[in-house]
Amino acid sequence: MASCPETRLVLTSEHGTAAVPARYAHLFAEAAEVLSSHRAVDLGTAELTGYLARRSGVRPHRARVTRLLVDCNRSPGHPGLYSGFSRGLPAAERERLLERYYRPYREAVEADVARDIDAGRSVLHVSVHSFARVLDGQERNADVGLLYDPERGRELALCREWQSLLQAEPGLRVRRNYPYRGVADGLATWLRRRFPAGRYAGIELEVCQDIAAAGGPGWRRLKQLLGDSLEAVMASACSASART
Ligand SMILES: [Zn+2]
Repeated sequence: MASCPETRLVLTSEHGTAAVPARYAHLFAEAAEVLSSHRAVDLGTAELTGYLARRSGVRPHRARVTRLLVDCNRSPGHPGLYSGFSRGLPAAERERLLERYYRPYREAVEADVARDIDAGRSVLHVSVHSFARVLDGQERNADVGLLYDPERGRELALCREWQSLLQAEPGLRVRRNYPYRGVADGLATWLRRRFPAGRYAGIELEVCQDIAAAGGPGWRRLKQLLGDSLEAVMASACSASART
């Protein structure tokens, strides 16, 4: 799948790694198990991001450290920017996390989007995430979620189309703005404030991590479906932008 000249796909992964640089390993000395849990990493998304990137021929942006150190999907000043593991670090160390891992990531994504928009093109940004089937005792009744801003018509249209393509698969439950709202704090929400609705569409793709964890044919099939449907959604985004 190649992006058309008018619209380009940007893929990002804010939560795809549980990496902890040696300097911060002591923060997790008593809680090593947390680093293999969904609290540290969106399970399956490193692989899914790589798969979608290969199929679409784009180079994805990937955060380099676990969100338990600094969360690249939270805005500066958001209470969730740091976790209980990193919040108590001295201010200089928290600043170092921003300097080394947070700002370079956020600025690279923003510059990548800006480059196309400044050149008169449009961008479809897909931010790849996964969610736990059960959180705080609540079971989530979806396999895939598509998060967007319902006030941005292009995002709404693209998500409606993406949902209907995915739902052609028997038994696959796809919900919009579930299990989170697309307008909640996140990288896409941040970028919407910077780029006009007609040029920038930001969609957070949320996949149930249990499907990734189970692996096997179910996971392979879901990746393929997501790749096929994203290809079709990109084709629509391209023809729509060609008309404007
Ligand atoms: Zn996530």
